[in-house]
Amino acid sequence: MSRSLRKFHCTKHNPGLGPRLAALLLLLPFSAAVADWIGDARPMMGTEVSVYLWSDDPEVGRLALEAVFEEAGRIDRLMSTYRNDSEISEINRDAADHPVAVGAELFGLIRRALDISVLTRGAFDITYDSVGQHYDFRSRQRPDENTVEVERSNIDYRRVILDQAAGTVRFAKQGVRINLGGIAKGYVVERGIDILRFRGITNAIVTAGGDSRLLGDRRGRPWMVGIRDPRNDGEVAISVPLSDEAISTSGDYERFFDEDGVRYHHIIQPSTGAPASGVHSASVFGPDAVITDALSTSVFVMGVRQGLTLIGNLPDYESIVIDADGKVFYSDGLAPPETQSPD
Ligand code: ADP
Ligand code: MG
Repeated sequence: MSRSLRKFHCTKHNPGLGPRLAALLLLLPFSAAVADWIGDARPMMGTEVSVYLWSDDPEVGRLALEAVFEEAGRIDRLMSTYRNDSEISEINRDAADHPVAVGAELFGLIRRALDISVLTRGAFDITYDSVGQHYDFRSRQRPDENTVEVERSNIDYRRVILDQAAGTVRFAKQGVRINLGGIAKGYVVERGIDILRFRGITNAIVTAGGDSRLLGDRRGRPWMVGIRDPRNDGEVAISVPLSDEAISTSGDYERFFDEDGVRYHHIIQPSTGAPASGVHSASVFGPDAVITDALSTSVFVMGVRQGLTLIGNLPDYESIVIDADGKVFYSDGLAPPETQSPD
């Protein structure tokens, strides 16, 4: 059975929950009937984390919100390469010299990332960071050709050696670095929803940057999640009805700068060390936000044909890709808006 999608254009978003919750493009009606929904959005992890939930008891709801932000902070302290004292920074400092013991949680996420690398034949590769570390998008800084050439040879997920019994990570070469930026936000929203569920919440959405996980529906109707038009800020290209699922979008408009007509952005093609080209945005949805996060980055890197072939082989996951000409492509399980009969 294929799902129906709707073309939807909107220029106005739900106000009051912070600018980034608006950027999430959650298409909510303005009405007094949403009085028992509560939400908040905070800058975290270099982006914004937002939580929006239904609660019969406002105090229970407020505490649940807090717990999700606390969890996001905890995960960030573990996995941020911007913090010298994070476990990931310790790995990057020492793992080329000797095996580094890491906690089960980080070990598990690294293992999942490496599994996705195998699945995507290296399109998803957390060692992209040997090149990635030389970018600073705010100050329009990028590595020169020589640096890319040298650092590119350090990108190879097979050089990250895990020892399950010892609980250690080792790098098989000097110069290897890892960065979980392509998977950690999916993990945050997955964990956030687990926490809400544990606290008895049944309808919620947790978002971190381009990754959202929905719990239940919007009380009787599916959530409508908008996929941004990659070249028209504030416009929605397509809206997707979703319940109890995750959706992730990777775009070349998140972190970037343009120079001489070239867009330098944050998703690296591991085979060349350059920002991946050919796609403006790749969205993936399915049951697990860790997977949708890693796969949206993967599909972006792999491009329309290879990316949608990959998704076609994963029964639980679907994808929508907008290419560099603005053309929209759908995975096999989706009914594009054009082919729907009018309501
Ligand atoms: P966002 O960070 O906007 O949610 P993505 O999920 O697409 O976007 O993740 C992009 C991030 O993934 C980059 O900022 C970087 O940290 C990391 N990354 C970039 N290229 C790759 C790659 N080829 N494989 C794995 N991770 C990558
Ligand atoms: Mg991603």
